[in-house]
Amino acid sequence: MTAYLIRNVSVVGAAPTDLLIRDGVVAETGVGLTAPDATVLDATGLVALPGLVDLHTHLREPGREDAETVESGSRAAALGGYTAVCAMANTSPVADTAGVVEQVWRLGREAGLVDVQPIGAVTVGLAGERLAELGAMADSAARVRIFSDDGHCVADPMLMRRALEYVKAFDGVIAQHAEEPRLTEGAQMHEGEVSTRLGLTGWPAVAEEAIIARDVLLAEHVGSRLHVCHVSTAGSVEVLRHAKARGVRVTAEVTPHHLLLTDEVVSGRSELASPALANNWSPAASYDPVFKVNPPLRTAGDVAALRAALAEGVIDIIATDHAPHAVEDKECEWAYARPGMLGLETALSIALDVLGPQWDLIAERMSRAPARIAGLDGHGVDPAPGVPANLTLVDPAARRIIEPAELASRSRNTPYARMTLPGRIVATFLRGEPTVLDGKAVK
Ligand SMILES: [Zn+2]
Repeated sequence: MTAYLIRNVSVVGAAPTDLLIRDGVVAETGVGLTAPDATVLDATGLVALPGLVDLHTHLREPGREDAETVESGSRAAALGGYTAVCAMANTSPVADTAGVVEQVWRLGREAGLVDVQPIGAVTVGLAGERLAELGAMADSAARVRIFSDDGHCVADPMLMRRALEYVKAFDGVIAQHAEEPRLTEGAQMHEGEVSTRLGLTGWPAVAEEAIIARDVLLAEHVGSRLHVCHVSTAGSVEVLRHAKARGVRVTAEVTPHHLLLTDEVVSGRSELASPALANNWSPAASYDPVFKVNPPLRTAGDVAALRAALAEGVIDIIATDHAPHAVEDKECEWAYARPGMLGLETALSIALDVLGPQWDLIAERMSRAPARIAGLDGHGVDPAPGVPANLTLVDPAARRIIEPAELASRSRNTPYARMTLPGRIVATFLRGEPTVLDGKAVK
């Protein structure tokens, strides 16, 4: 195993130091280290972060390997600075048995680019009718602790209650895709001024907020852990704030795209929540299905509330909801396009735009907190002597133009095509082995 001496790196924004990586761990830190056998990396101007952890990734294997595989998604993750991703259960077949979650877990080990932690389905086939084998998935080699029907809401309150009760035994967590299905039938985009103007059926904010309100009360009643996926509205933030003040065991995520893009992009306007990025970018066309996502892009007011909640901690983490789709499922009429966007290779850049160089906050929201929620040992720990060498090196001064064809994902549905984004991942290490060096995937 090669040793690496990373010279002159700022660890989570601190004064520059050297990091010696040997035998899978950070062996030593300090100024002016020597190690004759080590490969030296000059990291002047770079920031070392604990390897990023994504709580919400769609890898599409098994079933839609044309859109993404565990391996291609793992490579995209490593290039984005991630060392662990949690793979959502809406594959084909659905990850609702010990057999399927073990298959995904094994494929992740074989690819060896990030730790792939499978998420198990809450209900059989994501059908929302009866509970899946939660205990068997928890006891499997994949050691599942997060369960989600993501893509669908666990709408039945009795099933949601039982699921929360069941996972309490092993400190599991239910990750809810909050969408009251009766309120979003036929929905195509956020319900508001823009949907009215464009003549598209609206997905009202209250469909999300009503489920979150119900679920935090259920979680409080049961005393169990709830995680809210992709929070997208200002009203949801208020519900979460109230629940956290009451001591409910709830955590929440926001996606990069909900922190940057508004529903105006659907109409072809370049209205971004970031003036710095809006200046050099505009959508190619109106009704571009690359902007179709569930939950939908919301208003500028919602984006502002999400940004404030992320800074404040009412929203705990940034999760990508990386959702690769094959060309035929995305480059078609708006109404027929599948919802979802790529996210792994651009998330840190969006975070840098949203939060600025607040490295401690970025490490907390993108690594430490997601690792804690998922219970992932060895991840989410700042580089220090004795700690597993799961880390990433960021060049905050770099700028890059996003070209969909250059992404490692098998799919091309990035909403940031031809946008100039700040920051670049220079290297990523998984247990001391580089998965990315000089901005390129090692394998
Ligand atoms: Zn979802």
